[in-house]
Amino acid sequence: MNPEDCVFCKISKREIPGEFLYRDETCFAIRDINPVSEIHFLLIPVSHTLYLSDILESDFDIFSHMYLVARNLATSEGISDSGYRIVLNQKNDAGQEVPHLHLHVLGGNKLGSMV
Ligand code: 5GP
Ligand code: ZN
Repeated sequence: MNPEDCVFCKISKREIPGEFLYRDETCFAIRDINPVSEIHFLLIPVSHTLYLSDILESDFDIFSHMYLVARNLATSEGISDSGYRIVLNQKNDAGQEVPHLHLHVLGGNKLGSMV
């Protein structure tokens, strides 16, 4: 999929609306449009990276940065103490719908066990 057709790239470029919680030059966070928990937001790299398998070892800094931002937003969203789950869906078997790498951050209520 081209960046021109990508929903997250369009949100990043403000071509379609998104409720931003955070933004810097490498990543941004938006609330999920279809939340599956009381708090559900997404951490998304600005660059149109499709899958975890596409990230070069040399580019993993951005990934750790996304985790840091996720952790800080979990605090500001008030779920740091109650707890939360970070999920990355990779390709078909995991049900990845949007082929632009992202982390889900889920919390605000008791989450069902996944693994
Ligand atoms: P995936 O299944 O790819 O891991 O998750 C994609 C997520 O993106 C889904 O939870 C879906 O609700 C969310 N999503 C899809 N389109 C939009 C949109 O236009 N805006 C926002 N904020 N979230 C979206
Ligand atoms: Zn994209």
